[in-house]
Amino acid sequence: MAEVKETVPIPVQCNHCGGGHKKHDVLFAEKSDWEDPETGEHGYVIYTVARCRGCETIRFVMTSWDTSSPYDPYDSETVRVFPDNASADRRTPALSQFDLPDKVGQMYAETLQAYDAGAHTLCGAGLRAIVEALCLDQGVAGGNLLKKIEALVAGGHLAKKQADHLHEERYLGNSAVHEMEKPSKSDLEDGLQIIEGLLKTIYILPVHAEGMKKRREARAAKKAATAAKSAKPAKTAAPAAASSSSSPAAGSKPSGTGALKKPKS
Ligand SMILES: [Zn+2]
Repeated sequence: MAEVKETVPIPVQCNHCGGGHKKHDVLFAEKSDWEDPETGEHGYVIYTVARCRGCETIRFVMTSWDTSSPYDPYDSETVRVFPDNASADRRTPALSQFDLPDKVGQMYAETLQAYDAGAHTLCGAGLRAIVEALCLDQGVAGGNLLKKIEALVAGGHLAKKQADHLHEERYLGNSAVHEMEKPSKSDLEDGLQIIEGLLKTIYILPVHAEGMKKRREARAAKKAATAAKSAKPAKTAAPAAASSSSSPAAGSKPSGTGALKKPKS
């Protein structure tokens, strides 16, 4: 942790001043860097207390960045503001747009914007568009959406049950796009939850699983290296002891044998 001496005002969204980004004076800021030694993933979080220059409201801002968003094209920071500027109606997104492939993430973000704005018909169409973007990303093209969803199952990208859920999104989207039928808020909420669950299964869980695999392999490699190191001197105990006294360079790495050379008081 390191305190950040910030004198330049920062832009933060302010609902009291029209909802746009307004200059805020930084009252306090502290930066915390982190790194996972096993995977090499790293990032930072900046904690800021800021005051709006317009209405003088004080807010807590968390700005973070890390290397674990594989689809973020802008490599951008995530900014969270407390208390949340959103109106009571605004939905908290279950996923970050940048954890998804470009086009899928863009469709997801726009669909949420439509939902938050109360544009229910557009949100219904957006749910359908997310499914289209998902098919495109998975390399399923041609035919209508019904055929594309079936192709996702045939290609092993989706289980049959998941495809049934996607068909519900399709029905909802069809009513919105073709019949201009305004979906209900609860239909949209259900639709969003289904699509978020599927996107998480397809795009986010594999990244977590890959991280777990990397850490497991790193631990196994470390264990094997430690075992090999401690096995060596035991096999050739006498020559190793002799060579280490005459030429230290020939001996095995001294820094790694800390466990064998506990200092005695
Ligand atoms: Zn303000």
